[in-house]
Formats: sequence, structure tokens, C-alpha cells
Amino acid sequence: MSKSQELFKRAVKCIPGGVNSPVRAFNAVGGNPRFIKRAEGAYIYDVDGNKYIDYIGSWGPMILGHDNKEIREAVIKACENGLSFGAATEIEVEMAELICELIPSIEMIRMVNSGTEAVMSAIRAARGYTGRNKIIKFAGCYHGHSDSMLVKAGSGVMVAGVPDSAGVPKGCAEDTLTAIYNDISSVEDLFNKNKDCIAAVIIEPVAANMGVVLPEEGFLNELRRLCTENGSLLIFDEVITGFRLSISGAQGYYDIKPDLTIFGKIIGGGMPVGAYGGRRDIMEQISPVGTVYQAGTLSGNPIAMAAGKKELEILRDNPQIYTHLNKLGSYYRKELKEILKRRGLNYSITGVGSLSCLFFTDTEVKDYESAKTSEVRVFGRYFNYMLERGIYIAPAQFEAMFISNAHTYKEIDITLEAAENFLKTI
Ligand SMILES: *Cc1c(COP(=O)(O)O)cnc(C)c1O
Repeated sequence: MSKSQELFKRAVKCIPGGVNSPVRAFNAVGGNPRFIKRAEGAYIYDVDGNKYIDYIGSWGPMILGHDNKEIREAVIKACENGLSFGAATEIEVEMAELICELIPSIEMIRMVNSGTEAVMSAIRAARGYTGRNKIIKFAGCYHGHSDSMLVKAGSGVMVAGVPDSAGVPKGCAEDTLTAIYNDISSVEDLFNKNKDCIAAVIIEPVAANMGVVLPEEGFLNELRRLCTENGSLLIFDEVITGFRLSISGAQGYYDIKPDLTIFGKIIGGGMPVGAYGGRRDIMEQISPVGTVYQAGTLSGNPIAMAAGKKELEILRDNPQIYTHLNKLGSYYRKELKEILKRRGLNYSITGVGSLSCLFFTDTEVKDYESAKTSEVRVFGRYFNYMLERGIYIAPAQFEAMFISNAHTYKEIDITLEAAENFLKTI
């Protein structure tokens, strides 16, 4: 028995499913999860000494590659002053100033400890600010696991085969309306049927939790217009796209100004951090200035801030990182398309910059319904084929493939070759 198998046997006895987050489980693809011991650059190593090219990157934070030396040193230096004070620190001010400087729509920002917490807090702020209750989200978009957002929530929930979670009272989800991604008329309908009741529209500006689904030309602009016309707030959940599509996120990339933005993943450089921010008049509704209560004992933790701030500074000071990420991502998608053509296959490849997804369907993927046409059993075989050859992609169809700055053409070429060999078996 491998060490990973041994650990998994122990894990399932004391942790539900043996994992602390369901996306780490191999339920959707079969087999045991690999237990990871360490990682460096583009590579991840398991407890049995297997080495993999990693395309998860901790689900985004490792955009610079694993074990970045500068981030590690920043963390160690911060540790030497103490791990947490529960009081204001200089680095929190620096972090907030940095984000306000990098993202034009952010005038004020509040740190929390996860993307979920940031979404939950932003929605409360939107409701408090507008005095309205209803929220529009899009089928297939994931916004963390808070009660009101577990409706057609994409990725982990999609492969679990449960559309909604047990334990969420009907009332909690009642004010969550679901629209269709890339279908502006579905949003207009909801606005018309719920006049003056919509507090906010929340969206992943590039959906990366139903595989990767890009916004069609003009879709985000139309959303912006509808929100403004109806006095509702536009919330961009940039937990994946923030600091990835560009230094100013998807909003910079597509040139759209949301009212509130949610960050997570990258913003912590590998530490547990989330944040929400935006217009000053909205953010000033938050306690202790305003009446929307939100708090966090470990929020803005100095060690987490040291990691996140260093990561953002490196990204700001090295614009060539984005050039590299985008070049590799485009190359991967272009070559994969060529391979599919050679094999006479017409599978859908989506992506932008360093985010990509191969769907095992001939249907063009532009929303939740079309994403679901992917043959997940073929994906399962693909996943295991790649894993056996030292290539670690997310163990579920409806996740993104993340490229980091530590990846080079060498890793991409190895990956493409393995993919081509797999596709020959179809
Ligand atoms: C991961 C993710 C979240 C939730 O973040 P956690 O830190 O896992 O709570 C929210 N929104 C999006 C778009 C995400 O990808």
C-alpha cells in the first residue's frame, strides 16, 4: 500500500471523506487522493516521492509558482515579531493602500479570512446599503459556501450531484435568484419581475467554477448598465480572476467598474485571506463606521498580510509575469486545438490568460447547461491517465487548469504530448 493510501485510510476515519475541502477528494474521478508533502516551482511532490507538474497551484494562490523565496522570507520575517496581536498593524494599512492603488474601483477594503467570508460580508453590505434583500447570481458560478450562495453553485457541488446543499433552510436561499450566464435577457427578466427588490448582482467576471466560461462580448457591460438603471450593486467575485487576468483583475482586463469586488486565493499568497472592497459610500456602511456588522478575530493577520502583500508587490513590479502567463496559456490552448483537429475531435477548449479548461463535449460551452454536456466519465479517464504520467490537474471536470509563472514551454509540451496520447485512446 502506498503512503498516500495509508494516510487516506486513516483520514477517512477522522475527517469527513478524508479531506478538509471536497474539491480535494477523488470521488469524481475514482482512486485515492495523493497526499502532498512539498512543492517547488511548477512541481508538487507526494508522500511517496512521486513528482507531478502541478496545474492546480493551490487553486490559484501559487501564481508565482510554489515556494516562492521572497514570499517565504517575508513570512519568516513577520513570524519573528509574533503571530497575531488582535490589534491594528502597519502592514494592514500598507496592504489596503496597495490594493486601492492597483484596482481603480476599490476605494476602501476590508480583510477577512476566506473567499466565502468575503462574499457573505459583501452581500450583507449590499443589502444594508440598498435596503433590499434579493441577490441575482448565475447558475454554475461559485461564491463560496455561505447559505444564500449555495444555489446552482458549480464545481464541487456539480460533481457531488446535489444541486443544493442539505442544511440550507429554504428561507436562506429564497432571496437568491438564478440567471443564466451570458444570457442578459434572463437577467432583465429577473429585474422586471422583482422591481426595486434586487440589492445586487454577483458574478464571476470569468466563470472558473463550471470549468472556464468566458463572458461574451458586451455581456458584462450590459450587466453594469442594468445594475445602474435599477439601483442595484454590481459585485464582481474576483477570487480567481483578481490579480490573475491582469494586475487590476478581470475588471481591468474587460474595463468594467463594479461597485464591490471580492478577493481571495491569490490575495493571500498561500495564506488564508479574503477581502471585499469597493465604493467608499458602500464600504462606509460597515462597522464600526456604519450599521452593517462584520468582524474577524484573525482578519488582517500579520503573517497572512506579509505573504499576500509580497505576492501582490511581485506581480505589480514584474508586468512580464502576465506576458509569460498569457503566452503559455494561449500556446497551450492553440496546440491542444491542433491536437484535437488531428485526432478528428471537436471538444471545446475554453480559457483566457493562465486559465484553461478542456471539456469533453462538442457543444460550445457558454453557460452552466452547456458545461454540463461534458462527458465526465471521459474526463475521469483523462485525469487518471495524466496523473499516472506525472501531470496533476484538478480531480474534477468543472475546475480550471491554472498555469503559474514557474511553468515553462517544457512543462506545457510534456502535458500536450500526454494529452495527445490520451486522445489517441478515444
Ligand atoms: C474559491 C472561490 C470562493 C471561495 O473562497 P474560499 O476561500 O474557498 O472560501 C469564492 N468565489 C470564487 C469565485 C472562488 O473560486
